[in-house]
Amino acid sequence: MTHKSVLGEVREVQLAIQLIQLGARLQFLESEVGLSRERLIRLYKEIKGVSPPKGLLPFSTDWYMTWLANIHSSMFYNMYQFMKIHSDEEKVWILIKSYKLYLQQIAAQDSEPILDFTRAYTMVRFFDSDMLQLSTCCRCSGQFVAHAHDHKSGYVCVLCRPPSRAGKARGAKRGAAGEAAAGIEAMGFGVEAAPGGAGLH
Ligand SMILES: [Zn+2]
Repeated sequence: MTHKSVLGEVREVQLAIQLIQLGARLQFLESEVGLSRERLIRLYKEIKGVSPPKGLLPFSTDWYMTWLANIHSSMFYNMYQFMKIHSDEEKVWILIKSYKLYLQQIAAQDSEPILDFTRAYTMVRFFDSDMLQLSTCCRCSGQFVAHAHDHKSGYVCVLCRPPSRAGKARGAKRGAAGEAAAGIEAMGFGVEAAPGGAGLH
């Protein structure tokens, strides 16, 4: 990194600023941005007004399987995949752009984001290391985040068959879930002429 151009360094700083604004953790910044740890910490403090939180990234693949998290995760990952296919940008920029798109979709539906940036990034890593896969729902043909190596045939998504324990929260959360599902459809990633999909709205 000793012979880095000034422009190259500006790009790194811009990348770091984007990532910090989206809520990236220090571990992620260190692995994706070619700036020293000290400079990253200084940037973080300037932008957020506080020191970066310490500690490991605490997530397992199970988080992505819970009902509402699965809907949001699936929506984000469908966008990410679409961007990856249609863009030749660096992976980290594709991640940034798809995460912003996810936030826009959620804001447009007056919902709260469930998937934070670190979880979005961790999920992409889980996909890359073959711990997660997209499974196609046999009822609505939407694509949903699932554990890798789960049986793909006969898979029914969380929208078509919410777990019984989601029943109580369903009244309150149905709006958000329905809107997220509509978001998946609006993005053109999910369902076309889905049998039984009409109940999602
Ligand atoms: Zn389904």
